[in-house]
Amino acid sequence: MDRSVALPGPDEVRGARCLNDPLFNKGTAFTRDERLRLGIEGLLPPRVESLNEQAARVLVNVRGKTSPLEKYLYLSALRAGNETLFCRVVLDQLEEMLPIIYTPTVGEACLEWNRIYERPRGLYISAAQHRGRIAQLLRNWPGRRVGIIVVTDGGRVLGLGDLGANGMGIPVGKLSLYTLCAGVRPELCLPVTLDVGTDNEPLRCDPLYLGERERRMTAEPWDALLEEFLAATQTVFPGVIVQFEDFNTACAFRLLQRYRDRLCCFNDDVQGTGAMGLAGLYTAGRITGRKLSGQRILFVGAGEACLGIGNIVVAAMQREGWSEAEAKQRCLFLDSQGLVITSRKDLPEHKRRFAQDRGALPDLSAVIENFKPTALIGASGKGGLFTESVLRAMARLNERPLVFALSNPTSKAECTAEQAYAWTEGRAVFASGSPFDPVPFGGRVHAPGQGNNSFVFPGVGLGLLISGSRRVTDEMFFAAAQALAARVSEADLERGRIFPVAARMREVAVQVAAAVAAVAYAQDHATRPRPLDLRAEAARVMYEPQYA
Ligand code: NAD
Repeated sequence: MDRSVALPGPDEVRGARCLNDPLFNKGTAFTRDERLRLGIEGLLPPRVESLNEQAARVLVNVRGKTSPLEKYLYLSALRAGNETLFCRVVLDQLEEMLPIIYTPTVGEACLEWNRIYERPRGLYISAAQHRGRIAQLLRNWPGRRVGIIVVTDGGRVLGLGDLGANGMGIPVGKLSLYTLCAGVRPELCLPVTLDVGTDNEPLRCDPLYLGERERRMTAEPWDALLEEFLAATQTVFPGVIVQFEDFNTACAFRLLQRYRDRLCCFNDDVQGTGAMGLAGLYTAGRITGRKLSGQRILFVGAGEACLGIGNIVVAAMQREGWSEAEAKQRCLFLDSQGLVITSRKDLPEHKRRFAQDRGALPDLSAVIENFKPTALIGASGKGGLFTESVLRAMARLNERPLVFALSNPTSKAECTAEQAYAWTEGRAVFASGSPFDPVPFGGRVHAPGQGNNSFVFPGVGLGLLISGSRRVTDEMFFAAAQALAARVSEADLERGRIFPVAARMREVAVQVAAAVAAVAYAQDHATRPRPLDLRAEAARVMYEPQYA
């Protein structure tokens, strides 16, 4: 399975087409010779610029925009014209740019997608129009050597609910991170939105909405559509990796269950988040001195993210000596209907496996007093659930309470960084899904880390690519979690940071990729000859935004 890419050189594209093709375009960086040879003399201003000079201009323009959404739009337009320049600018200022091209701004972009839409990016597959012809649609994609597909049906976009076809911002954003953070070549990336309708009525009735104006498809027809789509991906792009993203909970677990042993696929919200959460718990343990098996974790939310963390944490606690039943006793889940307990009749299978035999309690504060958690992990999509009394109770029960407010975007975070530190007298070990600025408190500056699966999935994808893995396994995510945790330095921990800084994303991705590929070889899922040095191989194949 060869997922590498052989592109025609710029010489094979001539005339104005060179300037319209984002993968070949160099804009003002085309040399005089190239302009002559390609027949584009006069189509550009006379001065020839370097990539760095171009990047400097872009940066001034981005910084001149007043709102994050304007910056997002400017960068999207730049990308449509010149992929290399876009990648150069973002990669060189990763810390500054990630919040623009990813969370939180991508959430705003999805909410506004039908209003801000300007030009095509990604593949829209409509259940109403394209059922029975999905392979044909995939063949319409201009790239022939796709390596990774990120697909959503817009069912649960971040913590923003059902956004239908507006969800396209998510696969586009995730694949940007593949290229920027793990160096997966842009032409290997295919963002897909399955338009199965939407139950978001205001959106459906919005005259500018661009998707099908139908209620969301469910049950058997939805399953049949997914079956057709996934079969088509393997026919058109054999062995392609498929990442499921932002499906609603029931669909997400069903998909994973059905396809994980049939193709090279994974669910980032469940498995990627799981590995990130476990890594956070491991590094937090270096601050608190408490092993994972000593934690009592209260999950606020029992959806993809929390259950994903719960699954991998239980497996990791078993490695530290607990039985499965004992490990599960240390993980308690609270969802919108109350505690996940055996007396509840409404629990689907993926929640039922965590149901504890205990009584119901009225609210989060009562659960904290009763369960006495050492760690509070929120992925509920409900902003502000970690109130002052909740965090003060955590601080009373623990010298260093672990507080992860993982919901995205920022408006949905269970608490802000400032609240986490203020209401625990600066003792919280805090991480959040969307970034927060450093917080001065008690004579120190706390620089919280971003607990986001973006530290995991790009490296996982790269590891799958370099090994040519046929499957994605739980052991790979465990290895990814360990690799991520190992990248957090003592200096990070001193600042209260349990995840690396964004600027080190590529370094993290190399380690994660090597760890994942090693598992692929060990478990006999790899189809490529094993390189001597997996880290060196991961670093070698990374795309570097430079002009040819
Ligand atoms: P989901 O819809 O599968 O689950 C949400 C869960 O929260 C459900 O179990 C729901 O019952 C529960 N919930 C809702 N209101 C509640 C309340 N008041 N009290 C307790 N529980 C409540 O969604 P998900 O995929 O798990 O995502 C949830 C959030 O986590 C989203 O905001 C998403 O953006 C975020 N997330 C973050 C990351 C990350 O890397 N930081 C990764 C995945 C998801």
